[in-house]
Amino acid sequence: MGEGGLTAPGKTDKLARMPSMRVILLGTGTSHGVPMIACDCPVCTSADPRDRRNRTCALVEAAGRCLLIDTPPELRVQCLACGVGRVDAVLYTHAHTDHVAGLDDLRRFNALQRAPIDCHGDRATLEVLRQMFPYAFVDLPDYPSAKPDLRAVEVNGPFSACGVPVVPIPLMHGPLPILGYRIGDFAYCTDCSAVPEASFELLRGLDLLVLDGLRHRPHPTHFNLAQAIEAARRIGARRTRFTHIAHELPHAATNASLPDGMALAFDGEVLEI
Ligand SMILES: [Zn+2]
Ligand SMILES: [Zn+2]
Ligand SMILES: [Zn+2]
Repeated sequence: MGEGGLTAPGKTDKLARMPSMRVILLGTGTSHGVPMIACDCPVCTSADPRDRRNRTCALVEAAGRCLLIDTPPELRVQCLACGVGRVDAVLYTHAHTDHVAGLDDLRRFNALQRAPIDCHGDRATLEVLRQMFPYAFVDLPDYPSAKPDLRAVEVNGPFSACGVPVVPIPLMHGPLPILGYRIGDFAYCTDCSAVPEASFELLRGLDLLVLDGLRHRPHPTHFNLAQAIEAARRIGARRTRFTHIAHELPHAATNASLPDGMALAFDGEVLEI
């Protein structure tokens, strides 16, 4: 990646600048994953590799740092598949199991980097993480490298993750308030069924939006595809990718039906900003 670091929204000549940020979509599947266990539907049995979806997660490379968004259960497999060799900080969207169950795999990055890793999240998320993985947030000198070495950092507004400016985006996941994140001209908003008015303001001028788009049928805690398209149109990013995808949506056929600038994400997709 280039040395330019982050740029202020809307202030840069897009023709002149080098890519300053890279986003790798490590996983794009809903909580069951696709294929789902013991399902013989056309998507779960598809030969198209883009119809195989691990649980939702992304890596953002910005200003020479690697920020991981969520730690799903397949984190080790996803890091191997995409060649991830570094994680400087983790941004947690919320504490549902499909977004946190792979936390223990972070210990490999502690060993590689010989340093603790900051885990950013709202208070409710950090409470659940400490309950699920109490050993990861305390010093146990007898267990070097056998456990993750993490620091829980509560998000209360815009913050810096290893020197990278991050803006939390409040979202509603059914009745649960959760966080999306904006880094430069990129925003990641998974697991949402509503975008509060004030958050639309925080999402202006995006180059790339990654947004929840579960399936066609309505769901109480996720945007279905029609709702996701409507929200994406209002946000107006140059490009939108839908994530957290269930087995009802075949990649190729669904993409053919989407508006210009919008597409289903797929595992391993790399996007430069
Ligand atoms: Zn989820
Ligand atoms: Zn299926
Ligand atoms: Zn969730």
